[in-house]
Amino acid sequence: MEHKQNVPFSPTEPYRFCPADGNRLEGPRPSGGATCPLCGRSWYRNPAPAVGAAILDGDRALVTVRAREPHRGKVDVPGGFLEVGEHPVEGLKREVREELGLELEVDPMPVLLAPHTYGPEGVWALAIGFRARISQGVPKPADDVAEARWIGAEEVDGVDFAWEHDRGFVRAALTQRA
Ligand SMILES: [Zn+2]
Repeated sequence: MEHKQNVPFSPTEPYRFCPADGNRLEGPRPSGGATCPLCGRSWYRNPAPAVGAAILDGDRALVTVRAREPHRGKVDVPGGFLEVGEHPVEGLKREVREELGLELEVDPMPVLLAPHTYGPEGVWALAIGFRARISQGVPKPADDVAEARWIGAEEVDGVDFAWEHDRGFVRAALTQRA
């Protein structure tokens, strides 16, 4: 995407200084990489992959109300950012276990791929969404979830989603289910 490659680094974004040795980096190249004059490594701005689940039960899907910023009080789907080296499906199972105490059976074919910005600094994330079902447990929200709620397809339009791609994701999961 040409316009993204030409966006200069802002004071709030990585990287102005080498994460390895703290030296000031050279200005970013059009490709987005910035090279350290001391160690020679190049650092890139990449999106952070974030996984989400459309957890289905019959004709309803489970959505969550955010207890934390950004977008506290708005609705999203269970999930979160991947850890280093983690497979997206395993990361999704870990996040949902932490957030809701649920074990999931995940359809490994993603049904959502959406680049978006996250938080006041506009960090780029890549949302990856999967259909899932509960294999064990009932939803018990942890600290970062204010509430978990089952919604039907007719309720999707009225939900105050934090990110519009989640609205499309939940709608698609509810209407495309086999
Ligand atoms: Zn360096």
